[in-house]
Amino acid sequence: MASKQKFVYTFSKGKAEGTAEMKNLLGGKGANLAEMVNIGLPVPAGFTITTEMCTYYYKNGRKYPHELVKDVEKALKLVEDEMGAKFGDKNNPLLVSVRSGARSSMPGMMETVLNVGLNDITREGLIKKTGNPRFVYDSQRRLIQMYSDVVMEKAADIEPAEGKGIRHQLEVELQKMKDKVGAKSDTDLSADNLKSLIEIYKKKVKEVLGKPFPEDAMEQLWGAIGAVFQSWVGKRAISYRRIEGIPDEWGTAVNVQSMVFGNMGDTSATGVAFTRNPATGDNYFYGEWLPNAQGEDVVAGIRTPNPINEVGKTEHTKHLHSLETAMPKVYKELHKIQNLLEKHYHNMLDIEFTIQDGKLYMLQCRVGKRNGPAAVRMALDMLKEKLITKHEAVLRVEPNQLDELLHPIIDLAVEKKTSVLARGLPAGPGGAFGQIVFTSVDAVEWAKKGKNVILAREETNPEDIEGMRAAQAILTARGGMTSHAALVARGWGKCCIVGAGTLKIDAHTKTITCGSIVLKEGDIITLNGSKGNIYQGELPMIKAAEENPDFQKFMKICDEVRDMKIRTNADTPEDAAKARAFGAEGIGLFRTEHMFYGLNAEKPLFLLRKMIASNTEAERRAALDQLFPFVKSDVKGTMAAMDGYPVTFRTLDPPLHEFVPHNLEERAKLAKSLGISADEFNKRADALHENNPMMGHRGVRLGITYPEITEMQVRAIFEAAAELIIEKKKPFPEIMIPVTCAVTELRHQYAIIDKVLAEVCKKFKLKELPHMVGTMIEIPRACLTADKIAEEAQFFSFGTNDLTQMGFGFSRDDIGGFLPEYLDKKILPVDPFNVLDQEGIGQLMQIAVEKGRKTRKDLKIGICGEHGGEPSSVEFCHSLGFSYVSCSPFRVPIARLAAAQARVKEDMKKAKKKAKKK
Ligand code: ADP
Ligand code: MG
Ligand code: MG
Repeated sequence: MASKQKFVYTFSKGKAEGTAEMKNLLGGKGANLAEMVNIGLPVPAGFTITTEMCTYYYKNGRKYPHELVKDVEKALKLVEDEMGAKFGDKNNPLLVSVRSGARSSMPGMMETVLNVGLNDITREGLIKKTGNPRFVYDSQRRLIQMYSDVVMEKAADIEPAEGKGIRHQLEVELQKMKDKVGAKSDTDLSADNLKSLIEIYKKKVKEVLGKPFPEDAMEQLWGAIGAVFQSWVGKRAISYRRIEGIPDEWGTAVNVQSMVFGNMGDTSATGVAFTRNPATGDNYFYGEWLPNAQGEDVVAGIRTPNPINEVGKTEHTKHLHSLETAMPKVYKELHKIQNLLEKHYHNMLDIEFTIQDGKLYMLQCRVGKRNGPAAVRMALDMLKEKLITKHEAVLRVEPNQLDELLHPIIDLAVEKKTSVLARGLPAGPGGAFGQIVFTSVDAVEWAKKGKNVILAREETNPEDIEGMRAAQAILTARGGMTSHAALVARGWGKCCIVGAGTLKIDAHTKTITCGSIVLKEGDIITLNGSKGNIYQGELPMIKAAEENPDFQKFMKICDEVRDMKIRTNADTPEDAAKARAFGAEGIGLFRTEHMFYGLNAEKPLFLLRKMIASNTEAERRAALDQLFPFVKSDVKGTMAAMDGYPVTFRTLDPPLHEFVPHNLEERAKLAKSLGISADEFNKRADALHENNPMMGHRGVRLGITYPEITEMQVRAIFEAAAELIIEKKKPFPEIMIPVTCAVTELRHQYAIIDKVLAEVCKKFKLKELPHMVGTMIEIPRACLTADKIAEEAQFFSFGTNDLTQMGFGFSRDDIGGFLPEYLDKKILPVDPFNVLDQEGIGQLMQIAVEKGRKTRKDLKIGICGEHGGEPSSVEFCHSLGFSYVSCSPFRVPIARLAAAQARVKEDMKKAKKKAKKK
C-alpha cells in the first residue's frame, strides 16, 4: 500500500479535515462530526481513522501499517493542545472515547469504549482537577465495564456461556453494591462505594478473563481501536449486514474523541433527539435525556429517560422533568442547533449530545431512521416548507417502506370497545397480533412453522435481531423510543411497543404478568404500535392506506415525476378493480388459466379437463365451444374494470397434464361425459405425462398443436371487446403468446388471430377493433432472435420468471434444495427469482430490447415477471427504456415510487455528467 495514503483525519479547533461528503472514507459518524465542526458547532476535538485502514487491517493479517502509530500520536497531540490536557498524564489527564462508525448506521451493532485513559494514577489528577471524586470513580468503573466486555472479551473471540459474560457479571457486582448500601439507582452510589466497586471489578476481570485490566493509557487506546475494527466481523454485525444488505468490504472507521462528561452531577446530562418525530413525522423537536448520566444510558434503557421538551410529553412521561424546564438556557441552544442542522442537511436528523456542567456538546448527527408513514409525512412537509424539491421528496421514501402504509391496522370500531391490557411507547406503526414467544430462537422457529408470533422481551439487544425479524411485532417492558428495539423496528417499519413498564416479562418462566393476569407462551395478544396499546386476544385488522390522504398526495407526486407506466398482473375483475385503486394503468398479465382455479372454477375446470382428455379435434372443439362463454365473460368483466386501459391476455400457458385430475371419482365423471371407459380415460391421461413439463408441451406449443385452443380464446377476447365497444366502453386487448422461441411460431398464431378478428368484426359489424398482438420474451433464444420476432410482434413483455429459470438453468420449483446454501456461501448475492440478475439475465434483456427496437422503433416493451414490483429491478427496466412494468396489485404503489425514483436518479446522473464535462 502506498505510504502516502492518509489514514487519519482530524477535527479540532473549529476545523476539520473531513466533510459530510466523505462518508465512505470516514464512516457516517466521522464525516458528520467533521461537518458539525466545520459549521461551527461545539464538538469535542478528535480524529478519525479511515475505513480504508479497516480494509488494510483485514487484508494484512489483522495488522496496522507502522506509520499509523505516528499519525495517531500526531493527531492526539493536536487534540491535547486544544483540550489543554495530556493523554495518560498523571496531573492533567485527557480522556477519550473510541467510537466505531460504519458508512451507514448499524444501531447498537458496533462497539464504543468511553473514558479511555483512566487508571489509578490518572484518576487522581482528574479528581484534583475537577474536585469531583464521585464522577471520576463512576467514569473509571464504566471504563472497566465497557473495556473488559468489548476489548478483552468480544474482540478476543471469547464466547462466554449464557449469563457468564463479563459485562453481565460486573453488572451483578454493581447490583450487589447497590443492594448493600440501599441505593435505588446508580446515581445513589457514593464516591466511596464506586471506589470499592472498581477494586471488585478489577478482581472479577482477572478472575473471569485471566488477565489483569490494563492500566497503561496507551495500551487501552490501541486495545480499543483494535476492538472497533474487530467488531466489524462480530457475529451480530455480520448478521445485521446480511439482513440490511450492507457489503462486508465496506469496513468501519474509528473515531477517537476527547471525552466530555454528562455524569458530573445535576448540571450535567446526556441525550438523544430527532429534529422531527420519527414515528409520526410530525414537525417538532423530539427526544429524550437523562441528568447525571453517561453515554449509552439513554439508549440502553437502564433508567427511563425524560422527555426533552413539553410538547413531547405523553401520558407516561408527563410527570418527568423535561430539559426545556430543567435547563432552559441549554435547551434553547440545543433547539437552535437542531434547527440549523436540519436546514443544513435538508433532512430529519438524529442527534446525540452531552451537557457537561451546563455546557452543551454535540457528539453525533446523522440522517434519522423513520418509518414509512413518517417518511411520507416528512417528504410532503419539507416540500411544502421548500426545504427540498419534488425530486428530492420522491427519493425520501424507500419503495419498500410504502408497504408499511399498506400495513394492517386494528379495526378502530372494535378497538374502541376493547379494554387495554397495558400501555407502552408506540415505537413501530400499525397493528399486529400473534402468539407470544420469549426468545429470539423461538420466534424464528415458530415463524418457520408458519405461526404469527410476537416477540416479548424485557428489552432487546442486538443478539435478538433474527427473532425480531421473524416476529410480526416486538414488545418490550423497558427502554424508550430510542432503545434498540425501537430503532430496529422503526428501520423495518415493524409494529413495535417498547417500555410497557406495567408488564413483567419473564423469559425464564415464559410468562407475562400484568397485575393479576398471567399470559403464557403461545397466548395471543394484539398490539397497536401506532398508539402503544396492548390487548389480550386477537382483534380484527383492516387495511387503511388506500384512504390515507398523505399516501395519495405522495403517490400523485410520484406519478408526476415518473415516465414508465405501471400495470398490474390480475386475472379477475376483482383484482383488476383493486389494482386500479392502487393506481394501476392497465393489466400487464392476465393469465387465462387462472379462471380454472379457485372460486367458481368448478364448471369451467370440468370443461377444460374434458377438452384436455379429448382425442380428436371434433371432441376438442365440442368441449371448447362449451368453455367459450365462461372465458368470454371473465375476459369481458376484466376489460370493463380496466375501461380505457390496456389488458394483456396471455394465451393458455401451463402444460396440460397439470389440469388432469388424480381423483378417481372426478376421472369417472369426465369419462362418462366424454362417453369413454375409465380405462381409456386413464390411458389418455397417462399419455400427457411429461418428464420435464416446464420445458415440455406448453405455451405457444399448445397453440400450434391445437390451433382450436388459441382460436377459442382469441374469439372470446375479441367478442368481449366488440360487445364493450357497442356498450360505448373503451377496451384495449393485447394478445400475448407465451414461451415463444422462434418468429415462425408467432406467424402461425397470428394467422389464427387475423382470421378470428375478421370474423368477429363482421359478426358485430365493426370496421375495426383496436388491439395489439405481441409475445412474451422468456426464452434466451427469443432474446437473441428478437429482431426477427419484432417483425411480427407489436410488443414484448419479459417473463422474467421463466427467463431467469431458462437463463440460469435453475428449475424454479426445485431451487429449495440448493439456493439457501448458494446465498449462505455467497455464490449468489441474492435470489435471482426475487431480484433481477442484471448482470446475466439483464444482458439477455438488453439484447432483446436493442434488437427488437432496431426492427420496430415503436416496439412497446414491458415486464410481467415477479420482478416488476421489485425496486432495483424496476430501476433496471427504466434504464433499458421500458414502456411499463407490471406487478401484483399490492406492489403497484411500490412500483410507482420505484419508477419515479429511477427517473430522478437518471436525471441526477445526467446532470453530474454534464457538470463533469464543464
Ligand atoms: P453508537 O454508534 O452506538 O451510537 P457512539 O459512538 O455514538 O455509539 O457512542 C455511544 C454514546 O457514547 C454516545 O451517544 C455518547 O453519549 C457517548 N460518547 C461517545 N463519545 C463521547 C465523548 N467523546 N464524550 C462523551 N460521551 C461520548
Ligand atoms: Mg451514537
Ligand atoms: Mg412463463
